Amino acid sequence: MLAQNEFDFDACYRVNDLKIAREDVSVYLTSGYLILARKVNGVRAAALFAADVDAGDAEVVVMPPNRGERLSLASFTESPNLDEHFKVGLMLFSDNTGAELEAKIEAGARERGGYRRDPEEAAKLANNWNGPLRSIVENFSVRLVEDRLSPGAGGFFFLATAGSRLGSFDVLYDPTLPDQITIGQIRQRDQKNWFDTWTAFAGRTARAKGEAVRWAPYKADDYRIEANLDDALGMRAKTRVKITPITAARGALPFLISSRMRVSAVSIDGAAAEVYQRPSLGSGNAFGTNDEVFLVIPPAPLKQGQTYEFEFSHDGNVITESGKGMFFVGARGTWYPHSPTDLTHFDLTFHFPRSLDLVATGDLIDKHLDGDTRELRFRTSEPIRFAGFNLGHYQRKCVSRDGFRIEVCANTPEEPGPLPPAASAPRMEDIANEVISALQYMSAEFGPPPVRSLTVSPIPTTFGQGFPGLIYLSTLAYLEPEQRPRQEQTGEYTRIFYSDLMAAHETAHQWWGNLVTPATSHDDWLMEALANYSALMYLEKKKGHETLDRILDNYREHLISRAADGREIESAGPVTWGLRLSSSQFPNAWQVITYEKGSWIIHMLRVRLGDQRFREFLAELCRRYRFQGLTTDQFRKIAAQYLPPGSKDPELESFFDTWVYGTGIPVLRLKYAIRGTRVTGSVEQSGVPDDFSALAPVEIRTGTQKTAIEWVETGSDPVSFSRLLPDRPLAVALQPDETLATIQR
Ligand SMILES: [Zn+2]
Repeated sequence: MLAQNEFDFDACYRVNDLKIAREDVSVYLTSGYLILARKVNGVRAAALFAADVDAGDAEVVVMPPNRGERLSLASFTESPNLDEHFKVGLMLFSDNTGAELEAKIEAGARERGGYRRDPEEAAKLANNWNGPLRSIVENFSVRLVEDRLSPGAGGFFFLATAGSRLGSFDVLYDPTLPDQITIGQIRQRDQKNWFDTWTAFAGRTARAKGEAVRWAPYKADDYRIEANLDDALGMRAKTRVKITPITAARGALPFLISSRMRVSAVSIDGAAAEVYQRPSLGSGNAFGTNDEVFLVIPPAPLKQGQTYEFEFSHDGNVITESGKGMFFVGARGTWYPHSPTDLTHFDLTFHFPRSLDLVATGDLIDKHLDGDTRELRFRTSEPIRFAGFNLGHYQRKCVSRDGFRIEVCANTPEEPGPLPPAASAPRMEDIANEVISALQYMSAEFGPPPVRSLTVSPIPTTFGQGFPGLIYLSTLAYLEPEQRPRQEQTGEYTRIFYSDLMAAHETAHQWWGNLVTPATSHDDWLMEALANYSALMYLEKKKGHETLDRILDNYREHLISRAADGREIESAGPVTWGLRLSSSQFPNAWQVITYEKGSWIIHMLRVRLGDQRFREFLAELCRRYRFQGLTTDQFRKIAAQYLPPGSKDPELESFFDTWVYGTGIPVLRLKYAIRGTRVTGSVEQSGVPDDFSALAPVEIRTGTQKTAIEWVETGSDPVSFSRLLPDRPLAVALQPDETLATIQR
């Protein structure tokens, strides 16, 4: 039915002053031709506007609702609001746009005698635009089918256009996404396509209601997966899972799976269901992590609140060989049908060639050897968000100590891959001890972890990942510093990153990400920031305060470093924006802002709360949000409860507006004078907009007393302070280890 989408020769009209409004998006078709797509099953799903060669015009107007979004839009388009004229616009929709356009055309014909039909123009437009229409329909095919089968679930409106000033760009209104309105552009940089998100936000109705959008209209529970890996490591799997619809009957249920997996059959309580999945593009990105939506179409409507047994048959290649005998499971967490957020139990059985070794999330509860096939079964003891596995030719080192059991797997020297033979895993025992020490430290700080036994396995990349009970570490972390490739040896930070930080960071994810989970994608940063800062606290304990300070200094340098156009990386956007932070303008902004500014935010909270209260706060988070989603705002509220009595900004609202929801790193300059036991002075701020304000910690050291902090609220003008102390002050300073601001002396 999708292939039938083409333009309708009998539905081409001369139009003027026709307006389409979707929440904060307004499209004005001022003067030109409008051709509608043919009706398919009684519905028109597309339309094209084309201005007259010389005269016509159309315009799209969007005003983002907050300062951050206006800044973002301005950074890409040089204007805080979108008001762009265009000559051609292709619209695709599954909401009521088709009927709305027909009604407006009819009304236009009645009232103004205008809007006349133009078959000649129709032929021309259809010839030119049926091709582009087909490729856009192909991109949206799953969604179009889903909305056709589940009318009323919230259709979308999409406009692809070429602006007279800004070039090609897209406008999407999709009520089912947290950011319902997304405007952006595909750009090329370094032979790579980037989608630059100019602005993305919830529509005005959802903003007024303040409700979060849930992606899946069901709850998924109790996964049982049986996976067979053949000699070429192709996977054939059966996934069984209990599905409970949480909305009234839907004609189609959406699931996610790696684009490398094909779903061949689905049954619901034993009865065959239909599957709709986009034809394979044979790709996904290099790591195969592309999650794509596919649909299950039940033979009869499912009842809300009733639980059904779904069985999926799926197969594909999610494992790639990277170098001799080293494997890469690209689709970590996406190799089976899933939805983004539910915590659930998993029972995983793998059948694979006996020459290989395999590790997975959960406890190993059964193993068999059957001819040339090995069988391993794993079961989780606590609910988890994603199940993962890894495989290779492993040598193992197991260390049990203080109630923890760590098994470190490394690629064997006989199958060295790109690493120097004999030395493929000199640090196995170090890693095991390191992970146990980190577990001990973090258990003492945050309470017991969800699992007491952890498996560490290698992935041939420069990063790690912390699944429940299963940690992936970069193969570089297994090497002594001098064995690492030269480009990974520069500087103290790189050495600490691979030798110390990575294992501790992934260990910390047992608490942050696996025990406490992010409520939405806007809260993902919290898990990375808390995991990274927990690793830094552990390093601080092990190596001293100076190590923490040096790493934070390093982070500040990265954040204030400038892109080619002179803007600081930190200005790419607030930490809550997630992957959108990386764009053709700032390719690595997501990493730097999420991990490094994120760590600074947690560190500055620690300075506000004081060490003891800060640690109690983290432990309380783990208690209160055990196996639950945490939002950034809940995080703020609990932090505020741990502020010392009488603190300024007692709800931390200004702190979060400035550092979490805002951007900007000021340069601060302190002037002061000491008279007797009184300090008077002022703090001057520069390098940020006039409305930037933060509490600057002025540290005052006296002889016998503890160090006192005078919190000075900065603004566009220098702000003065005066404080009387019990003793004569010896030193007054803004300390670079207490604020992300740059201190000018
Ligand atoms: Zn992480």
